[in-house]
Amino acid sequence: MDCIFCNIVEKKISSEILYEDDKVLVFKDLEPKAPVHVLVIPKVHIASAMELSEDNYEILTSIFKTIKKISAELNLKDGFRIINNYGKFGGQTVNHMHFHVLGGCQLGWNPA
Ligand code: AMP
Ligand code: ZN
Repeated sequence: MDCIFCNIVEKKISSEILYEDDKVLVFKDLEPKAPVHVLVIPKVHIASAMELSEDNYEILTSIFKTIKKISAELNLKDGFRIINNYGKFGGQTVNHMHFHVLGGCQLGWNPA
């Protein structure tokens, strides 16, 4: 299986890593859509949010704890957006579950 985000976790592909621990990795999005745009991913391969189950739901605790921590470090106290794209209509292009954290300016709301 050739997963781009697994390769980033394994440092086979370089990225701008902002945070990592044993479960979670945070790195800058290659094509930022806002002044701050980072991706928060589980180190273990989970293809999408719809692959979450009783076996791995606990990763969400680690992910959201990490988002809280990095949002403070990235000075996002005025607010930010967390996005998970799922599937074709959701615009998911990388099949390794990831949460976009976008901020640093007033965001619009036009998902369609
Ligand atoms: P999504 O469209 O929700 O699947 O988001 C995938 C995101 O991954 C996009 O915002 C891409 O810009 C980003 N991306 C793809 N390849 C890389 C990479 N090598 N390093 C950092 N971000 C990437
Ligand atoms: Zn993967």
